[in-house]
Amino acid sequence: MEKVLIVGCKRAMDDVCIACSRCMVGFNRRDGEFSRYDRDGAELIGLLNCGDCPGATVVTRLAQMNLWNKPMEEKVTKIHVAPCIVDHCPHKDTIINKIKAKSGIEVILGTHPYKPDNIFA
Ligand code: SF4
Repeated sequence: MEKVLIVGCKRAMDDVCIACSRCMVGFNRRDGEFSRYDRDGAELIGLLNCGDCPGATVVTRLAQMNLWNKPMEEKVTKIHVAPCIVDHCPHKDTIINKIKAKSGIEVILGTHPYKPDNIFA
């Protein structure tokens, strides 16, 4: 069973991207970058924000997340970096490289595929 953690932008999560629902729906439907998982082969165990600009605390927050879940014997096995970071963060390279260097697990760029082409059409 894969245990999926989504990492996103503190300034966008549940603010620009209301309720983070596109990531949730994408996971539930196994759309976008979640299509790699079987329906019964993965659980979402967290939505972690980067810790705010310039993402200096993201590794610490990952470590805290791991510590927090230890009593339940839950451990993240896949990290998905959300489009709010991958497509929009000016610090994305630093953040993604840090997550890749320190997490020790597979890091996947992207989550849901529901980016609108336009607003009013
Ligand atoms: S560092 Fe990037 S992902 Fe984090 S709050 Fe700032 S813009 Fe958003």
